[in-house]
Amino acid sequence: MRILVTGGAGFLGSHLIDRLMAQGHEVVCLDNFYTGTKRNILKWLDNPYFELIRHDITEPIRLEVDQIYHLACPASPIHYQYNPVKTIKTNVIGTMNMLGLAKRVKARFFLASTSEVYGDPDVHPQTEDYRGNVNCIGIRSCYDEGKRVAETLSFDYHRQNGVDIRVVRIFNTYGPRMLENDGRVVSNFIAQALRNQPLTVYGDGSQTRSFCYVSDLVEGFIRLMNSDQIGPMNLGNPGEYTILELAEKIQNMINPGAEIIFKPLPEDDPKQRQPDITRAKSWLGWEPTVPLDQGLELTIKDFRDRIEGNQK
Ligand code: NAD
Ligand code: UDP
Repeated sequence: MRILVTGGAGFLGSHLIDRLMAQGHEVVCLDNFYTGTKRNILKWLDNPYFELIRHDITEPIRLEVDQIYHLACPASPIHYQYNPVKTIKTNVIGTMNMLGLAKRVKARFFLASTSEVYGDPDVHPQTEDYRGNVNCIGIRSCYDEGKRVAETLSFDYHRQNGVDIRVVRIFNTYGPRMLENDGRVVSNFIAQALRNQPLTVYGDGSQTRSFCYVSDLVEGFIRLMNSDQIGPMNLGNPGEYTILELAEKIQNMINPGAEIIFKPLPEDDPKQRQPDITRAKSWLGWEPTVPLDQGLELTIKDFRDRIEGNQK
C-alpha cells in the first residue's frame, strides 16, 4: 500500500514509518519540520519506497494514497503553546485538508487524537465515553479543543461523506528520539539528570500520568488502522505514577546525586490521568508489553548517545 504519514519526521511518526517500511509499504512522509527532524528519517531518505515532502498541512495538497496516518501537530505543551493560533489552525484547517484528501482518494484516515480531550478529568481511569473537562479558554485549549474539533471533523466526514476513519486517543508516550528540548516530562528529567542539572518537578509532584513505550503504541496504531473498528480508542499504558515518583525513578537510574527541585504548576495541568484500555484489549487484543523501567533504560541510552555525542 502507499501510506501517507503526516508529522512523519516527529517522534511517533518516525517510529511508525520504521514499522511501515519494514512491512514493505510505500511511505510518503509529510512534515513542516516544526518539531520534527530529518535525522529521525535519515535512514530512509535513499530508499526508493520512501518519499519526503516538506509541506505545512494548513495548506491543501494533492496526493494519491491508500491510507493516511494523520499525526502532524506539536505534542509538547511548550511547543503547542508557542504559537497557539497556529496549533488551532494545524488541528482544524490541517485536519480538514487531510480529511478532504482522504475523501477525494478514498483513503482510510487515522487521527492521532489525545487523552487531552478529557482535560482535567473528574472520572478515573478515563473511558472513551467520558466527555471530558476541558477549559475552552485556557492555555492548553489550543491543543485540547483543537483535537476535540479534529475528532468532530473526522466523525462528520465519516457520517456525511463516508470517509473510513480510525480515531485513537493517545496517552503520554515516551521513547528514543524525543527531542532533548521537547519540554515533556520524561525527556526533561532524563536530559536534566544526564547533564547533572536539577530535575524540575512542577507543583508538588502529586499529579499522575501513565507512560506508554513507543513500540507498544505503534503496534496499537497499526492494529487499529487494519481493524474494522473506528474508535475512538484509548491507547496507553495503565501503569500510573506520580510525577515525583517518576523523577525519583529517573534520578536513581541515572544520577542518584541529582537534585530534585519544585517549580510552579502550569495552569490547567491535569491532576490525574490513566487510560481504561478495555476497548483496545477486547477489540484489538492489544495491551502494552514494555514495563516502565525497561522503556526508560532504552530511552536513557538514546539520550546518552545524543547528549554525549554532542559534547564530543
Ligand atoms: P512531535 O512534535 O514529535 O511530532 C509532530 C510532528 O508534526 C513534527 O514532526 C512536526 O514538525 C509536525 N508538524 C507540526 N505541525 C505541522 C504542520 N502544520 N504541518 C506539517 N507538519 C507539522 O510529537 P509526537 O509526540 O510525535 O506526536 C505526534 C502526534 O501524536 C501529534 O498529533 C500529537 O498530538 C499526538 N499525541 C502524542 C502523544 C505523546 O505522548 N507523544 C500523546 C497524545 C497525542
Ligand atoms: N512536568 C514536570 N516537570 C517537567 C515537565 C513536566 O513536573 O520538567 C509535569 C507537568 O506539569 C505534568 C506532567 O509532568 O503534570 C506531564 O507533563 P508533560 O508535558 O510531559 O505532558 P502532559 O501534561 O501533556 O500530560
